[in-house]
Amino acid sequence: MLQRNLEEVQEKIQEACKRAGRDPKEVTLIAVSKTKPVEMLQTVYDCGTRDFGENKVQEMCGKMENLPKDINWHMIGHLQTNKVKYIIGKTKLIHSVDSVHLAKEISKQAVKHNVSADILIEVNIAQEETKFGINVDETLKMVKEIAVMPNIKIKGLMTIAPYVTNPEDNRQYFRGIKQLAVDINNQNIDNVSMDTLSMGMTGDYEVAVEEGATLVRVGTGIFGERNYKK
Ligand SMILES: *Cc1c(COP(=O)(O)O)cnc(C)c1O
Repeated sequence: MLQRNLEEVQEKIQEACKRAGRDPKEVTLIAVSKTKPVEMLQTVYDCGTRDFGENKVQEMCGKMENLPKDINWHMIGHLQTNKVKYIIGKTKLIHSVDSVHLAKEISKQAVKHNVSADILIEVNIAQEETKFGINVDETLKMVKEIAVMPNIKIKGLMTIAPYVTNPEDNRQYFRGIKQLAVDINNQNIDNVSMDTLSMGMTGDYEVAVEEGATLVRVGTGIFGERNYKK
């Protein structure tokens, strides 16, 4: 089942790339494995996946210990400042930076461990009250503040679009993120690139790819529904 799901998602990404005239190599599928057991991750790994996304520090660290070392781990969940020390140097990318305060701690820990930390700024593009992330009009200011911190590199933007039944409803938001990235890039800020756009989940990743996503975060579409009651 996992292999079939994975192939289906990969095919849909390829088709979306074709429709948009994009090279499929520009898009990386992140298998969002939160709440799922190590055995399932191993199966997806054996099918060739090397990028996994988790939203809890403890769960991610536990899985790291029990899976191959060449996995790229993506922290996609809200990150508390006091937990940064547990993941620094271990993640490929932290997607969920939504405050200067958090960035400062990431920078501090990265200096301490003598590593460079790649991050994305999480933007709450639809301004939903229930979501983390900063507003569009605060983004440039925050990027400038973080850009001068040592051992931290801004690679782009991340967003969690609203939950919708028609993915077309989110196209405007993905387009908005892309435009914001272009606008920030045009400022030529030292130490900042806007090449990475993490957007699109099971319900809307094809539209996100059409609008320029370079990372899509798919959980349910690969692993099936999550069961939080256990
Ligand atoms: C859980 C999660 C996903 C995956 O959601 P699905 O709808 O299961 O694909 C993607 N991004 C973030 C930040 C998540 O927390």
